[in-house]
Amino acid sequence: MIDGRIYNFSAGPSMLPEEVLLKAQAELLNCGGSGMSVLEMSHRSKVYDDIICAAVENVREVMNVPDNYKILFLHGGASGMFAAIPMNLGTGSGIGDYIISGNFSEAAYKEGKKYLKEARIAGSSADDQFSHIPTQDELHLSPDADFVHICWNNTIFGTKYNYIPDTGDVPLVADMSSSIMSEPVDVSKFGLIYAGVQKNLAPAGLALVIVREDLLGRAMGITPKIWNFKTEADKNSMLNTPATFPIYIVKLVTDYLKEQGGLEAMKRRNEEKAKMLYDYLDSQSFYRTNVNPADRSMMNVTFRTESEDLDKEFVGGQAARGFSNLKGHRLVGGMRASIYNAMPQEGVAALIEYMKEFAAAH
Ligand SMILES: *Cc1c(COP(=O)(O)O)cnc(C)c1O
Repeated sequence: MIDGRIYNFSAGPSMLPEEVLLKAQAELLNCGGSGMSVLEMSHRSKVYDDIICAAVENVREVMNVPDNYKILFLHGGASGMFAAIPMNLGTGSGIGDYIISGNFSEAAYKEGKKYLKEARIAGSSADDQFSHIPTQDELHLSPDADFVHICWNNTIFGTKYNYIPDTGDVPLVADMSSSIMSEPVDVSKFGLIYAGVQKNLAPAGLALVIVREDLLGRAMGITPKIWNFKTEADKNSMLNTPATFPIYIVKLVTDYLKEQGGLEAMKRRNEEKAKMLYDYLDSQSFYRTNVNPADRSMMNVTFRTESEDLDKEFVGGQAARGFSNLKGHRLVGGMRASIYNAMPQEGVAALIEYMKEFAAAH
């Protein structure tokens, strides 16, 4: 870690690799020999065109995206896509199946209800406070649905799918905001993958959308043109001025991921970090985590002590240790350590050290 920087366990926006920040800093005044910053640059310039094309190419390479998928950079973050997805895909039967595994999937469902003929809850783990991911057996899928929507990694509750739901011929749509590029996924099993980029890829302000080509061109008439996937695919995400700086950072982050050995390498590192933390949690009784072990997230680790007062004291002590953002989401309380790609292993080790000392002192 560079002097003065701390271990930031924020769920998002969150840490970026220092190599990327330094590169952005070095290029900030004069990007690609243009004599200007990327912040000041026309999105129609040659230098910028090279940047966005490289970003798209990198995403394709790093995630091994098949040729029959388009890669889009759209405005509005993940929440924008909660609306854009039903508008773009919901014109067949008008039915969308939603699997509810936490508050973001619920938020997607609520947006779906506004635009679809019928948004259906095809499975939910609300009954056990979202401590598990609905299993295939628990799903009630509609064979005539236009899509099935899931949230792959539940940022607030700390759960993640450990299987890809079998939806037959119905396209599977996944919100991967908080796990995008943390490990390889088989893109061909999905009709559409999307992510707000501010968890693992870039600063906020952008949604990455990876969509199978046969799903394009069926949008509702009311769809805002900046969210029409077909129009945006035809215009290389430049129907209007795109979020130029976040896209530039996506390019740098994906350059970095390639240098580091791609998503296999990320997966190994992320598994190691998460294992350290969960192994510690499983080895003691001062802290508890109520997530179903098979569904534990590798990115967001939630835990608590036996009392809210102790939780508060734990969070209160973080700054002195050089940590921040360990407070759990207000919906669940307790603590949450978000350990995305850019969190070094030393950060997790330091957190465990603090947890041990705090437990011993109480
Ligand atoms: C953070 C997050 C969102 C919300 O992202 P915005 O870009 O702020 O709309 C949605 N889904 C998941 C899984 C998230 O982690």
